[in-house]
Amino acid sequence: MHEMSLAQNLLEIVRQEMHKHGVERLLKVKLKTGRLTAVVPEVMSTAFEALIKDTPLQGADLEIETIPLTLACGNCRHQFSAEGDETLFFTFPCPVCGRDSGHSVLSGREFSIDYIDAE
Ligand SMILES: [Zn+2]
Repeated sequence: MHEMSLAQNLLEIVRQEMHKHGVERLLKVKLKTGRLTAVVPEVMSTAFEALIKDTPLQGADLEIETIPLTLACGNCRHQFSAEGDETLFFTFPCPVCGRDSGHSVLSGREFSIDYIDAE
């Protein structure tokens, strides 16, 4: 369960940003996580809530947007998205030429804060 340490890092950044902007009440954090980070949104939300409980940040919402995995074929450069089991991503056959290896990752590795809503 790496979500707990990710949530800790996230809150560290949130606190720094809030301090920088002189705001005290956290309303919402919107997070973008790529499919390849293997973050489970429900587990992440639970970790987030556990960490802000009984702190000044208690009550804040966490919204998580999962960014799909997009690959570029190593052979014909066709871009396509791969869905399904993480372990299959790198042997996912290109829908155009059928090549199933050597793809490059265009999106899916994201782990970033989209915005912080605080006052
Ligand atoms: Zn291809």
